[in-house]
Amino acid sequence: MFEKVLIANRGEIALRIQRACRELGIKTVCVHSEADADAKYVKLADESVCIGPAPSVKSYLHVPSIIAAAEVTDAEAIHPGYGFLSENADFAERVEQSGFVFCGPRADTIRMMGDKVAAKAAMIASGVPVVPGSEGALGEDQDEWIRMAKDIGYPVIIKAAGGGGGRGMRVVHTESNLVQSVQMTQGEAGAAFNNPTVYMEKFLGNPRHIEIQVLSDTHGNAVHLGERDCSTQRRHQKVIEEAPAPGLLAKLRNQVGERCAEACREIGDRGAGTFEFLSENGEFFFIEMNTRVQVEHPVTEFITGVDIVQESLRIAAGEPLSVAQKDVHFRGHAIECRINAEDPKTFVPSPGRITSYHTPGGPGIRVDSHVYQNYYVPPHYDSMIGKLIAYGATREQAIARMRVALSEMVVEGIKTNIPLHQELLTDATILKGGFSIHYLEQKLGLHKK
Ligand code: ADP
Repeated sequence: MFEKVLIANRGEIALRIQRACRELGIKTVCVHSEADADAKYVKLADESVCIGPAPSVKSYLHVPSIIAAAEVTDAEAIHPGYGFLSENADFAERVEQSGFVFCGPRADTIRMMGDKVAAKAAMIASGVPVVPGSEGALGEDQDEWIRMAKDIGYPVIIKAAGGGGGRGMRVVHTESNLVQSVQMTQGEAGAAFNNPTVYMEKFLGNPRHIEIQVLSDTHGNAVHLGERDCSTQRRHQKVIEEAPAPGLLAKLRNQVGERCAEACREIGDRGAGTFEFLSENGEFFFIEMNTRVQVEHPVTEFITGVDIVQESLRIAAGEPLSVAQKDVHFRGHAIECRINAEDPKTFVPSPGRITSYHTPGGPGIRVDSHVYQNYYVPPHYDSMIGKLIAYGATREQAIARMRVALSEMVVEGIKTNIPLHQELLTDATILKGGFSIHYLEQKLGLHKK
């Protein structure tokens, strides 16, 4: 195992990785921006290095400063967490070229999954179900686009191969708009992602978002840890996640999960990963793979008992997976609410000083957060200040515990979305489960049709 790991991230995930390292007896180096210099988790690290001013491009995204910090502190490995540089293939390459271990996949795996056309082709080759659509990128023949869209059936969606973060896609409802829409998406993709390649897919009207967690080691083993339902979304941002997905049959879970594990073995994946699917009428359609730990990993940890972050460290150190597929059992239900520093109605970010702070507890409650009383939420980063996770023997119990936890939680001095979560956990459709990714926006009156 490593002696010292550098954590190239901030906030709750930096603390989560730090805790995993400490449990494993690994020393930690925390890199931070000037805005995060006083944070407690920075002080808790064995060593800390300031890597630049508050804006991410000058600190958390500034590769030379991070590599230099690893060099001066003699760290052996770099854990990227999620966001920032976690899915940047050039960063992974630089880390390894500089003689450190990157706690994540090989750079070429990240690169392949970052190209959606290549990713989809790899999935098809491994038998992972994908959204029906063009085989690969669209060529130059416009008549072929028209034929293809007719075959797939309208509405179709034109997506940029290099797209991400919900950008670079356009829905087309009728043939009269098709050619123009493809050309516009190509133009935008070229400008935004430096890659004008686009492809075509069937547009699914009312899908759920269901994703499969996987772990792969460097000895050719890969397992899946079941699914999470992340259909509660606003502007493609997940708000609540849960595991297992309400109503999903064990047989289908195992079938899709095993295809994902097989895909990992075939592409030679390494570390923690997630296959994201849209699911409609009980069918699964792959949309993308994230080659990193995800925000919502705790719900899977609750129902499987597997520590995903510790596994990612063990895998990076070259150890075999600590679990085989036959040892993975799903027990109970877990739900996560993302706590954001924002107005619960307008969603305007609400950075500032937390004047009063109290976290809930009791059976089945987990709080993953780096904040505390008198912590200053800087305005420069994502508004998520933590995650509240509740576990129960049943979905009903998990939700009941979450309601109690939300009522106990006190965050004063800034606005948070806790009131929104409280409202959502009394909503009949949400309590029933199995709703589509548009439900929350419809409820909030935001859905544009
Ligand atoms: P990104 O990498 O930008 O997040 P994704 O491929 O994951 O792109 O798609 C983002 C979102 O766009 C999905 O969560 C879904 O809401 C919508 N979307 C993408 N493809 C389709 C599709 N074929 N049908 C319906 N919605 C889609």
